[in-house]
Amino acid sequence: MKITDVRTMRLTGPDPHGIGGIGRDVTIELVRVDTDAGLYGIGEAGNFLGDRQGIAYCREWLMGRDPLAINPFVRAMITGGLPPYDPQMSATATVDGPVAWSVSGVETALCDLAGKILGTPVYNLLGGAFRDRIRVYLDRSGVTDPTDLGQWRALAERVTAEGFADFKFDAEWIAPELSRDPWNRQMRNEQVRATFERLAVVREVAGPDAEIALDGHMSFDVETAIRLARALEPLRLKWFEDPVPIINFDAQKRVRDESPIPICAGEMLVPDQFREMIDRNAVDIIHPDLLFVGGLHEGKKVADYADMHAIPMAIHNNGSAMNTIAEAHLGAACANFIGVEYHFWDAKWIAQVVRREGVETFDSEGFVPLTDAPGYGVEIDLDIARRYLAPGESLF
Ligand SMILES: [Mg+2]
Repeated sequence: MKITDVRTMRLTGPDPHGIGGIGRDVTIELVRVDTDAGLYGIGEAGNFLGDRQGIAYCREWLMGRDPLAINPFVRAMITGGLPPYDPQMSATATVDGPVAWSVSGVETALCDLAGKILGTPVYNLLGGAFRDRIRVYLDRSGVTDPTDLGQWRALAERVTAEGFADFKFDAEWIAPELSRDPWNRQMRNEQVRATFERLAVVREVAGPDAEIALDGHMSFDVETAIRLARALEPLRLKWFEDPVPIINFDAQKRVRDESPIPICAGEMLVPDQFREMIDRNAVDIIHPDLLFVGGLHEGKKVADYADMHAIPMAIHNNGSAMNTIAEAHLGAACANFIGVEYHFWDAKWIAQVVRREGVETFDSEGFVPLTDAPGYGVEIDLDIARRYLAPGESLF
């Protein structure tokens, strides 16, 4: 069997609850890999700068090749090779950036294809499932008027009523009106106090057992991150994510050494960066994303390295339901998995674009149920996709 094409399709539609709870349009990008046997795989790539050029680069290498040779593809694209060079291999050995993002998207489609060829779910390609339903933590970011405590109360009531025990907010969107300088990485005491008061409302409504996480979006300096973490300690947060600029593992370790809240990090990192972050004792919970890390097999490698250090893995996800299901297969196959993120709960069309035999994308408690269908067990609903096709795009 040979690969005959690698294609992408962008869909655009509304997300009523985006960053800061504000409505916006969102674009998702699906990837399809075809073969001469008529079997195909579906995955998702990040809709980022340069990603389509990277996917074209992957396509050139993959055309005519064996679709089951997934790791050789990833290695060739990301680290190049030894002499005699394949003229189609990377000349620059880029380990992160657009090529890695593109490889990630194509790899997720190749995994679906490999599962279909072998007649087994993707989680079995990774060693088998530890669990048959996958916990989701909902990204709620913030509310449109953060000074209105009623909005925080209503949001917490709604999330818990919809069955979610795990959810996350963005630190810089909790009391943004008190941010006095967007550049100096500081949060003054008035903003720390307001952040505590608003999150305390959420904790009160959601109850003592809710797992509430906070995302710092790499925004703060070490001093502010530690001061904020100490102020929020009574709220017993699940984690404080990316408190300081990423890939500054020394700064992150200084925060981790002083923070009463566990530090979660890694959403844009590649495996070598995870190795270094773990080796430097700079993290409590790793947080890879299939749109960046190099695909499921690279994600599994990172998860296992963390597991050997007794570190759990949450999975970051700014992708659509397609990426969520791919990440659910990874989560199923990793013993140390604790939850996968989801942003687009209010953009129902994003979940409706994917169809799975016999199950919805999310069950009544917000988990992603797994099935024993080959690959991811997903088909694209072309009627829904047609409705949200981005300008200039064609259907798969
Ligand atoms: Mg984050």
